[in-house]
Amino acid sequence: MATINTNFLKLQSNYLFADIARKVANFKDSNPDSRVISLGIGDVTRPLVPAVVEALHKAVDEMGDAAHFHGYGPEQGYAFLRDLIMENDYKARGVNLSPDEIFVSDGAKSDVGNFQELFAPDSIVAVTDPVYPVYVDSNAMAGRAGDMAGKQWNRLVYLPCVRANDFVPDFPKTRPDMIYLCYPNNPTGTVLSRAALQGWVDYARREGCVILYDSAYEAFIRDPDVPHSIYELEGAQEVAVEFRSFSKTAGFTGLRCAYTVVPKALQISDGKGGKTGLNALWNRRQCTKYNGCAYIVQRAAAAVYSQEGRSQIEGVIRGYQSNAALLSAAVKEMGLEVFGGVNAPYIWVSVPKGMDSWGFFDHLLQSAALVCTPGAGFGASGEGYVRLTAFGSPEDTEEAIRRMRQLR
Ligand code: PLP
Repeated sequence: MATINTNFLKLQSNYLFADIARKVANFKDSNPDSRVISLGIGDVTRPLVPAVVEALHKAVDEMGDAAHFHGYGPEQGYAFLRDLIMENDYKARGVNLSPDEIFVSDGAKSDVGNFQELFAPDSIVAVTDPVYPVYVDSNAMAGRAGDMAGKQWNRLVYLPCVRANDFVPDFPKTRPDMIYLCYPNNPTGTVLSRAALQGWVDYARREGCVILYDSAYEAFIRDPDVPHSIYELEGAQEVAVEFRSFSKTAGFTGLRCAYTVVPKALQISDGKGGKTGLNALWNRRQCTKYNGCAYIVQRAAAAVYSQEGRSQIEGVIRGYQSNAALLSAAVKEMGLEVFGGVNAPYIWVSVPKGMDSWGFFDHLLQSAALVCTPGAGFGASGEGYVRLTAFGSPEDTEEAIRRMRQLR
């Protein structure tokens, strides 16, 4: 009989969102007249901007025309998009990359989940805590996380990010091979300053680690001291892979387009005393397992860099940022401590004394018909916090704030 990869049996079912849905359903059954507002959604709600829709229509017409039809495209993405990414997201910020260091894909989730395949099965992995669960689970599937011991995996190195360290992870006692960093952070909404991120780049260079840098929320950065790309830091091309996405930048969650940067300067041990480049290996991996992001989607992504696209998208992001600012102020008025929400669409709220994160979730639901995400669902260090998101409509955000004020 065939045997499965037993690492899959070690995975915890992800009860977080199922538990939230069950509690919300029970509340609605008992309170059929109250309108529940979710401040827990991690998906965007505003539609694609007109410049993107126009590019999509045009590309669809091309696909129906024999003279302009596109079949399989390059696995790494079309040159027109890789060039635009290189020019606008990097060169414009003083970062020199060549287009063949940029790999276009159908999502940062798949890239971030797949990238671990390039590392030895016994590599030591460090993750921040609380954490976007994909980093943990993809390594657990590959056997790198070990076994669950209580609420944590016994082979992972956890880097707590809490109020006490200002949400800046400390260097670990155990030297990891791979370090996942996500900034602006999901779920805490916090960022690393240039100096703090340089510290991590220097650490990785000194210790021979690779940083897997997820910057899916880069478009929300407003503070000039916060780097948009890890490659703005000295030496980062030797130690870091960067994941970016059009999902939150331009509302592509349902369209699917992202990219991953693997600099040619990034070399790791070949296990035989020499070195090997991750760029060539990721290219090999993608060419074997992936057939490229849809042509029409890449044309839509290219429109994000047009003048109209850029200003239309800025308007949408500003709307979400305004929701975040209003929500943060309202929560502060409730007397609670608030983190994030300035350079990110996520607001991390410290729950009232005497409550845990599920207790505060229940309180908001029962007393104000508001849904948040309990921080404990993102890891042990998330206990004591809840996550609010700014992706709702302005009307729902206003109504949520009105209800919060009545709670005081
Ligand atoms: N990375 C982080 C930190 C995220 O929060 C998300 C989505 O919520 C993703 C990646 C997924 O991005 P994509 O939609 O490109 O797969």
